[in-house]
Amino acid sequence: MENCIFCRIICGQLPSCKIYDDGELIAFMDIGPIVKGHVLVVPKRHYAHLLETPPDVLAKLIVAAQKIAGAQKRALRADGINIMQSNGQAAGQVVEHIHFHVIPRFNADGHHWNWKPHPYIDSGEMQNFADKIKEGLKKAEGA
Ligand code: 5GP
Ligand code: ZN
Repeated sequence: MENCIFCRIICGQLPSCKIYDDGELIAFMDIGPIVKGHVLVVPKRHYAHLLETPPDVLAKLIVAAQKIAGAQKRALRADGINIMQSNGQAAGQVVEHIHFHVIPRFNADGHHWNWKPHPYIDSGEMQNFADKIKEGLKKAEGA
């Protein structure tokens, strides 16, 4: 994918600070870290997002993210780790080549996600959303 920044990093057209390569996946330092030590885990084959990515590749991505999280804990003495993954522009995905963010967190790193809850009007509204998602699951299973 010529226009994909991560494909260009993977094929060596663009530089990156690589920390891991198992032939199928790579991990490199994010140039705009939320917290210093922020790593991106990326498959070498281009898949735009979660729903396009084969389950076996996804499984390998999360296992690699786990390895990197362990290294951040040990080597950076991280107090915690965030794993983040965005799908689609509406979700804030900027680079449309699937990636997991692995972000070391420290008790006093000063970062706040700023999540504001948007509560349901009542339990009926929540149930309505639940029913729709359950319908979607049935369709995925071919029922
Ligand atoms: P997204 O918002 O798509 O989940 O995250 C994309 C991430 O890629 C951002 O955190 C951004 O800092 C990082 N990024 C964008 N361009 C480059 C680049 O050329 N090199 C590296 N190492 N990271 C990049
Ligand atoms: Zn790509």
